[in-house]
Amino acid sequence: MAAPELTARLERVVDHGPETRSFFLRLAAPLAFRPGQFISCLLHVAGERLTRPYSIASSPEEADCLELVVDRVPGGPGSHYLFALAVGATIHFTGPWGTFILDQAPPGETVFIADGSGIAPIRPMLRRALVGAPKHPLRLLHAGIDASTPLFREEMVRLSRSAPCFTVDYADSRALLEEVRRRWVESDADRGRHFFICGVGAIVPTLRDVLRQAGYARRAVQYEKW
Ligand SMILES: Cc1cc2nc3c(=O)[nH]c(=O)nc-3n(C[C@H](O)[C@H](O)[C@H](O)COP(=O)(O)OP(=O)(O)OC[C@H]3O[C@@H](n4cnc5c(N)ncnc54)[C@H](O)[C@@H]3O)c2cc1C
Repeated sequence: MAAPELTARLERVVDHGPETRSFFLRLAAPLAFRPGQFISCLLHVAGERLTRPYSIASSPEEADCLELVVDRVPGGPGSHYLFALAVGATIHFTGPWGTFILDQAPPGETVFIADGSGIAPIRPMLRRALVGAPKHPLRLLHAGIDASTPLFREEMVRLSRSAPCFTVDYADSRALLEEVRRRWVESDADRGRHFFICGVGAIVPTLRDVLRQAGYARRAVQYEKW
């Protein structure tokens, strides 16, 4: 059976830079979803219907307005279509989908690794993990090419100030693999950590493999590659 098609109204946009934009979608009815999931946008581009998944960057507690964070990909028809939409436009989608999910803080130190806008699904996961009094450390390593303006930096720094168990660090995307090796492979023999990794392209499976080959359990290294 085909997934039911839902609609939302583009209520507002916020630019994070020339090529990255938040889209706030007002839903006709609240959408139940889990931190980390995505929706599949059905985009009518030049007579064709394209399906493009976008992670939900907002929290399930705000169930009638979703935030998506979208990069405009050079030559990419789906992202260019979204960037051309005017406030008030209708967006068709299905979902929520996905198994890259965090419902509660895992039973051990947890490391979130985001490359660029890969912070989108990790943001609601982190917010959820911070609910209550987490017993184990939570760490975010957020990489970007321009480390001076990472997405949601202010929010993450604020969260780290209010929750002593949470630390956030920034890295250059080009040095992400070395950073991960240095911090969580070479620094100690602890292999009880949990990882959630998200980003674009080959870096994601590369990080997954490095961690699993270093001795972390398969199921303790969750990832989503765009
Ligand atoms: C589960 C899932 C969740 C996703 N969530 C998001 C999201 O929250 N925000 C988002 O911007 N994209 C997200 N994407 C990627 C998105 O679905 C599209 O692939 C992207 O918008 C490019 O589509 P396009 O039609 O513009 O370009 P296409 O012509 O389809 O371009 C595809 C190329 O763009 C690369 N690419 C994909 N995403 C990005 C990106 N964000 N930045 C730079 N290059 C990229 C791909 O690796 C591929 O090489 C997600 C993908 C998946 C599988």
